[in-house]
Amino acid sequence: MNTPPSIPSWQPSRRRFVQTLTLGTGALLLPSLPSALLGAAADKTKTPDGRRKLGVALVGLGGYARGQLAPALQETEWCRLAGIVTGTPSKAEEWKRRYDLAEGNVYSYDTFERIADNTDIDIVYVVVPNGLHAEFAVRAAKAGKHVICEKPMATTVEDCDRIMAACKAAKKKLSIGYRLHFEPHNLEVMRLAQAKDFGAIKRVEAHDGYVSGGGTWRHDPKLAGGPLMDLGVYCVQAGCYATGEEPIAITAREEKTDFERFAKVEETITWTMEFPSGAKAECLMSYNKNANKLRVEAENGWYELSPAYAYRGIAGRTSKGPMDLPQVNQQARQMDAFARNILDDTETIVPGDMGRRDVKIMLAIYESARTGKRVTL
Ligand code: NDP
Repeated sequence: MNTPPSIPSWQPSRRRFVQTLTLGTGALLLPSLPSALLGAAADKTKTPDGRRKLGVALVGLGGYARGQLAPALQETEWCRLAGIVTGTPSKAEEWKRRYDLAEGNVYSYDTFERIADNTDIDIVYVVVPNGLHAEFAVRAAKAGKHVICEKPMATTVEDCDRIMAACKAAKKKLSIGYRLHFEPHNLEVMRLAQAKDFGAIKRVEAHDGYVSGGGTWRHDPKLAGGPLMDLGVYCVQAGCYATGEEPIAITAREEKTDFERFAKVEETITWTMEFPSGAKAECLMSYNKNANKLRVEAENGWYELSPAYAYRGIAGRTSKGPMDLPQVNQQARQMDAFARNILDDTETIVPGDMGRRDVKIMLAIYESARTGKRVTL
């Protein structure tokens, strides 16, 4: 990875923030369109400016694809649900009916490569277990499709490199499923990291956890990479975007109370990330405690989001009062933004480099938890 600049290239600017807020709101876009395009915007296959909506194929029809991404793709304005890739034939039938998908746009994991010949599909969205992201993202790029890869990007830095190399070789764009970069409250935290309205940032607290019963791939280290990769990634992300910096050192500790349920994966990890400015992020991720919070303490005040990482209902307040920001469909904005990156040949604000950075940090957290030592990055 390149040496990070003081403000990373994916850092949101005020302009990006405003662009993001208008993305996905047809009401805001339509009045400025020529009247000839108004009819095109009403056509569900056309973008608001009259171009062909990009087709998205979801790979892995589990909870996130079914509960969040497919519904969001009914709201998107620059892309649409055009295909599916699944290992479960009964899901293929159900999804075909529910979303009126063409028979030719439905693939199994064995027939996936044939997607290369399908001109309806421009973007492949990889939503399988974490340990399979690299395999499917590389296959998608080799099939000549743009790729959205769910978080964590992969479970090793080498796999992140493989994904980025495959996309580069295919001349296709890659983005990571970091939906919170399209969510107004989290965007406000990113803006404040640059604007410093509350003075220099001293301390960040990022906690994310829920009580997991086990019995799924999330408790299988080979498929999941461990729960830190699943949940801790939100805290790693938050620490970086709340400070606008990248950590230089990590100190981590693992806590375990239920040795049966967490026989193969960690239960709770707490860690500190040290940043070049002297700011510190105190983080916690747990599969056995409920937590969902981001708090920033600065020289002249504080601000916090709670919940901070949820799909809906994110709420924020500052030492000056509540944050008055809209609730949005994060996934719709995330996918629309990537579709616009492709249509307009611009760069995503959630690139592979960022996914790779976070995997590197998480591996350092594991190393520190295992060795009990401070790990420098
Ligand atoms: P699920 O277990 O609900 O679904 C995963 C799906 O992957 C399965 O339903 C299956 O789909 C497919 N699959 C392929 N191979 C396997 C395998 N060996 N074992 C199990 N499933 C397999 O998981 P989620 O939908 O919750 O998570 C999927 C990905 O999305 C993960 O990477 C996760 O981190 C990410 N995610 C991101 C969120 C976000 O907010 N950005 C939120 C939730 C998840 P099929 O039957 O169609 O083959």
